[in-house]
Amino acid sequence: MFKDCAELAKAVRLNCLRMVYRGESGHIGSMLSAADILAVLYNRILNVDAANPDKADRDRLLFSKGHGGAALFATLAEKGFFPKEWLDTYYKDAGKLSGHISHHVPGVEFSTGSLGHGLPVACGMAMAAKQAKKSHKIICITSDGDCNEGSTWEAIMLAGQHAWDNLTMIVDYNRLQALGRSQDIIDLEPFDRKLKEFGWEVTTVDGHDYAALERAFSNLPLVKGKPSCIICRTVKGKGVSLFENDYRWHYGGITEEIYENAKAELEKGI
Ligand SMILES: [Mg+2]
Repeated sequence: MFKDCAELAKAVRLNCLRMVYRGESGHIGSMLSAADILAVLYNRILNVDAANPDKADRDRLLFSKGHGGAALFATLAEKGFFPKEWLDTYYKDAGKLSGHISHHVPGVEFSTGSLGHGLPVACGMAMAAKQAKKSHKIICITSDGDCNEGSTWEAIMLAGQHAWDNLTMIVDYNRLQALGRSQDIIDLEPFDRKLKEFGWEVTTVDGHDYAALERAFSNLPLVKGKPSCIICRTVKGKGVSLFENDYRWHYGGITEEIYENAKAELEKGI
């Protein structure tokens, strides 16, 4: 039933792996973590059009964990927003695709990289849509590190107070960040209770279960009159056993041997 999502996620993971190998760097753990979330959004949920990426009534997807942006680039290429050949220029001088996400690429709403920028901008978009009485969705994907940022919590307070129920935050919550376990750096727990106290409706799902993701994303807002948060419990580096749940694969290049072994594992299926 979710063959289309599994196929897209697999293609995205293989693309990301090749991009990091050829680009000689990148945030592979963060990319693989988000692949299933992106596959469900782009195959089943978002009202977007590859032939007309700027159409006025499109849903807005902001990818605030911009360091993992190759996962969004790969998804957009697979969905036809731009030629797949561009993926081979990732992280290269004069390439089409930068190391962090860039709005100069068709289908990308906003450039991010430094954490804590996506949700504040998503708040502005949600407010503007409310004022203009538009019904498109505004969805922001954040990460553990993103939710350490003060600007993210300012946005959480703002959206809760103003009841922007056209806004959804999806957290790619793999409980790891650049330098270690989130609980050892800035512990977000009890995460759902904190968000609820700030006026959000919250649900938690397995971030690699396509059915659970589609159920959660199809049901927005979770409650009328409140912004929604979907905490997706994910595995950093999902799909490649060497990378899974190991923060040391947050950033860096990969050798040819690692590339070939990881590719074979992903091709076998997950
Ligand atoms: Mg993380």
